[in-house]
Amino acid sequence: MAYYNEEEKIFQRSISKFLEQQVLENIDEWEDNHHFPDEIFSKLGAQGFLGVLIGEEYGGAGGNLRLASAWCEEFGKTPSIGFTTAVNMHSLVILPAIQRYGSKEQKSRWLPAGVEGNIIGAYAFTEPDAGSDLTRIRTKAEKTTDGWKLNGSKIFITNGARADFVIVLAKTDPDAEYDGYSSFIVDTSLPGFSVSRKLDKMGWHSSDTAELSFSEMHLPDDALLGQVGQGWYQSMSSLEWERIMLSLNSLAGARQCLKETVAYVNERSMFGQTLSSFDLTREYLTEAWTDLNLCEASCHRSLNLLLEGKDCRTETSLTKLYVCERAIEISDRCLQLHGGYGYTTEFSPERWLRDLRLNTIGGGTSEIMARIASKGLFKKS
Ligand SMILES: Cc1cc2nc3c(=O)[nH]c(=O)nc-3n(C[C@H](O)[C@H](O)[C@H](O)COP(=O)(O)OP(=O)(O)OC[C@H]3O[C@@H](n4cnc5c(N)ncnc54)[C@H](O)[C@@H]3O)c2cc1C
Repeated sequence: MAYYNEEEKIFQRSISKFLEQQVLENIDEWEDNHHFPDEIFSKLGAQGFLGVLIGEEYGGAGGNLRLASAWCEEFGKTPSIGFTTAVNMHSLVILPAIQRYGSKEQKSRWLPAGVEGNIIGAYAFTEPDAGSDLTRIRTKAEKTTDGWKLNGSKIFITNGARADFVIVLAKTDPDAEYDGYSSFIVDTSLPGFSVSRKLDKMGWHSSDTAELSFSEMHLPDDALLGQVGQGWYQSMSSLEWERIMLSLNSLAGARQCLKETVAYVNERSMFGQTLSSFDLTREYLTEAWTDLNLCEASCHRSLNLLLEGKDCRTETSLTKLYVCERAIEISDRCLQLHGGYGYTTEFSPERWLRDLRLNTIGGGTSEIMARIASKGLFKKS
């Protein structure tokens, strides 16, 4: 089934060309160094790739979520989900949040520079004692005469160590429930902000994941994103698309891993025949291919609902749960088909498996996705 029109396919070809010229030959080095250079953001920006969802008045392409989805499926072929997600968080989640909720002044300040890749953003919900249950967050912002005082900490923040600004979810009214949260655009050059530590991880090596601290940090009034008390709703709304985005990334990664595995089993010989000629091999890979087609359909179903403005919390949760879990199983099966080579870093399944592993945790765990989806199931029955 064709999910993209000709224009979107042309866009995908331009991404592919960029990856060949600027990314693929460097990606192993970035993974080995546990760091990719900030300059890649400005290179992506110069090609117009960071403004997919941002209005033309701020230097963006003014595209919709389908164009963003086309981006994710092509860009997600890059064998480093840490790198691709770091970029996607900035361009497809953080900048659009400012576009959607920000004042005219905030948009003028952050969007053009963000679209050019001259500044890099992060989004911070999670805290050391609050991940799945965000109602437990303790970071608080108190009103002062000339702004806000921010205190607290955040953990596991993608781009956290390199960010020029961070959208921070904080408690602004301890007595209010969901209306007691607000979002702030925090300029990381201001006093009171610090990166407490960078975390070493199983995968996503080229991407930085950091713990951040806010200590008696004075924020000006115009750091508030949108209205006081809207933070919870803004965050939940951003997460809807973020979950589809992560699913598309898993889909693209598992598909690429499968493609490389098909090439491998066609080459590898044993018992006088190629590995691809064994019935069991063909069965494994055909089943994986079938599953990926179902994953693709699920992603696009959720995407269509979101584009139509429908309430699709149940569907996006089901999509994330199914696609991200299946992608891990597929990459694990691909690793198995590489035998001993699969366990080495010389072949791609090892990295795909490590990198895909995160997507059943980040953006809401599989258990939380199942919890949300089950509410939809029992409401319908
Ligand atoms: C590499 C990386 C990048 C990340 N990037 C960001 C980022 O940019 N910004 C950000 O804010 N966060 C980020 N995160 C955090 C991520 O979103 C959280 O790790 C995730 O939401 C889970 O929270 P937690 O780690 O506190 O786990 P916990 O909430 O402590 O969960 C522990 C376990 O309990 C299970 N569990 C929880 N509730 C239930 C339940 N009701 N029923 C059954 N089981 C349950 C969970 O599924 C999980 O298996 C990132 C994490 C990583 C590792």
